Amino acid sequence: MWWKPKGGVSAIPKMRKKSDLPTKTCLACGLPFTWRKKWERDWDNVKYCSDRCRSGKGTKNVLK
Ligand SMILES: [Zn+2]
Repeated sequence: MWWKPKGGVSAIPKMRKKSDLPTKTCLACGLPFTWRKKWERDWDNVKYCSDRCRSGKGTKNVLK
């Protein structure tokens, strides 16, 4: 016979909160940003929150 847990299974539902996603700080604007789907393959290399920051345009603190 199979043993089945009755009714209220205390397993945590597989719902991911956004707060569970990893975050980084943008090197250009200094603001924290959250993991995005489009970065899933390249997260280790992501250093900027946006293409604008990556290209160094649109921010005041251009450090060279
Ligand atoms: Zn940025």
